[in-house]
Amino acid sequence: MPFPGPLPEPPLAARAGTGELRIGVLAFRGAERAAGEWEPTLRHLAVQLPEYRLRAVPLDLGGLAEAVRTESVDFVITNPGQYVELEAAFGIVRIASLAAAPDALPARMVASAVVARAARQDLRRLDDVRGTRLAAVAPEAFGGYRVAWRELAERGIDPGNDTAELVFMGFPMERIVDAVASGDADVGIVRACLLEQMAAEGRLRLEDFRVLDARLTPGSPCQVSTRAYPDWPFAKLAHTSDRLAKRVALALLAMPGTEGYAWTVPVDYQPVHELFRALKLGPYEYLRHRSLSQILHDNWPWLVIASLAALWWVVHVARVEYLVRRRTEDLKAAHEEARRHREEMEHGARLALLGEMASSLAHEINQPLAAIANYASGCQRRLAAGTDPEGVADGVLRIAGQAERAAGIVKRMRAFVRKRVPEPQILDLAEPVRDALGLFQASAARRGIAVTARLPTGLPPVRADRIQMEQVVLNLLQNAADAMAGLATRRLTMMVGAGEGGVGVAVADTGPGLSPEARQHLFEPFFTTKPEGLGLGLSLSRTIVEAHGGRLWAEDGAEGGAVFRFTLPVADAEALP
Ligand code: ADP
Repeated sequence: MPFPGPLPEPPLAARAGTGELRIGVLAFRGAERAAGEWEPTLRHLAVQLPEYRLRAVPLDLGGLAEAVRTESVDFVITNPGQYVELEAAFGIVRIASLAAAPDALPARMVASAVVARAARQDLRRLDDVRGTRLAAVAPEAFGGYRVAWRELAERGIDPGNDTAELVFMGFPMERIVDAVASGDADVGIVRACLLEQMAAEGRLRLEDFRVLDARLTPGSPCQVSTRAYPDWPFAKLAHTSDRLAKRVALALLAMPGTEGYAWTVPVDYQPVHELFRALKLGPYEYLRHRSLSQILHDNWPWLVIASLAALWWVVHVARVEYLVRRRTEDLKAAHEEARRHREEMEHGARLALLGEMASSLAHEINQPLAAIANYASGCQRRLAAGTDPEGVADGVLRIAGQAERAAGIVKRMRAFVRKRVPEPQILDLAEPVRDALGLFQASAARRGIAVTARLPTGLPPVRADRIQMEQVVLNLLQNAADAMAGLATRRLTMMVGAGEGGVGVAVADTGPGLSPEARQHLFEPFFTTKPEGLGLGLSLSRTIVEAHGGRLWAEDGAEGGAVFRFTLPVADAEALP
């Protein structure tokens, strides 16, 4: 394809129809100075671009950003910090950068001096800024704040939180130097070379001030507290045509060095990006808002540990709960087992008691049976004679009476030895005592024991299991009888009565009394002094009485022998039927 030949020149005018070319400049030392400072550049451009009317528009940081946003300027000259921000936000592009002329003073340099009065001996290093009253230009100022902020941040100092006060004084920057000089601020952050410039203008004496952590950068006479950054750029806006930008760039590069500076090819602003990244500002502000996935990514070891700990806790709690439940069930089962055992033992003890009395009881049943046989043969005889019908009727009546007597004994025996679960009820304690005596009577008679019983009526009621009470009393009676076996005097006294401790029962005998050993072990299971004894009677009796809320104990009798007593509490009035 043949080369199409020269294209017609498009109009270069930035402001259509006006022929005006507006250059926004950051005025860090006030509008007048800014105009003066950039005057040689504008004059040069005016010569090189004669068809334009050139105008420098001095603006502060906010004004300059607004001018770029509204495209009311075509080019900007600003500090590297603002350049990086506007580049990211509005796509401005640098076409040239400033380069300091090495021989000139004050030289241009992008760095900051953190200054204090020389008289303040306590303020020598950047670390000393902690806790001071600090003055700076503005939160978004580059040389007037952020460059120093980065250095402080690297020392663990957050100017917003770790100083006594942080005051932003705005442009012009000389205000900060004045505030430090007057003592209104302890420390001030200013652009590098400002002190030297002011000294050259005769506005201060350098020896009255100290630059904290002062260092010199090769090629510059200015003392600074921070690293140096690339110098200011000359940038075109997005709407400014490339052709116009090229002409301006060519003109700038051709401009001879003047008043301490010259224009050169655009430099790399990466160090400025690093600063923004370190402070998480401008284009890197998103670094402050960390996403959930980033937090997970950064903290996964801790999250894993926390999750494991939580898991362990859940498992632990579940295990403890399981164990508690299982042990509770075991305990319940053990209680149930113990209860069953006790019932079995009580039952066994009752059988044993009755067994001891078996021959007496058999004898007692035999008596009515013999009487019945007697009456029956009498009746037979009378019937055969056929003479005495009344006599026969009387005999039959007696037979019935004797049969009832035998049946009563058998009934009591059966009730006593039946396997059963205790059933406490409201009763008169004299009743089971009477039943026990009924069962014991025959045995006592056979063994020649004189039994005296005092069973008053109208005792206060107790809440008790009838058969268990009968068992306790029968056991005491049997023990008393055993103690008196073979002795000349065999008297047993049985008393029931009401007193302070409730309703009480006492069984006194005329036996040998309690030996010291018996006194000590009486109520222990399996303690016995009898060849055929089980040693369970008293321990079971005490358990039964205590389960009813009562007490069982032994005393020495008044006429020798032993007295066994037990009491039960009177039943609650509310519990009465
Ligand atoms: P066991 O009658 O089978 O021996 P107990 O527990 O009823 O079991 O009695 C334990 C022991 O207490 C008896 O062996 C006896 O030594 C003593 N004891 C019980 N009652 C009396 C009593 N009235 N007089 C003297 N000793 C007694």
